[in-house]
Amino acid sequence: MPVVQHAHPPSPTRAAGDDRRPGWPAQSRLLAHPLRQRGRVAPVTRSVIRHAEHRIIRDPECTPTVVASCLYEGCGWAAVPGPDVAEVDRQCMTHTGLNAGHGRFLRGFEDIALVHRVATT
Ligand SMILES: [Zn+2]
Repeated sequence: MPVVQHAHPPSPTRAAGDDRRPGWPAQSRLLAHPLRQRGRVAPVTRSVIRHAEHRIIRDPECTPTVVASCLYEGCGWAAVPGPDVAEVDRQCMTHTGLNAGHGRFLRGFEDIALVHRVATT
């Protein structure tokens, strides 16, 4: 089993688009995958780890959750998390209305991601 190696930036003498990496196996088989060529693959983030291709997608059974917390030093207030960003925003505006100066919030959008190994044969 080959070990994971890290990509190095291309050397100045290497032509643009030349992604050959000394010591790495040829990846042309992955790049020529029929799904990739047909352009039917959904836009997903991909990564090659130990020569096995994976993709990550949002769990279709999961609804993203919006969270927000006040960044005023020492406050610690947080909105009730929920799927509706407008509702969370209303909570933030109400908090600012009741607390002058509390006008910065850390907002987050959380979901569940699924990683699948992509068959390359
Ligand atoms: Zn606050």
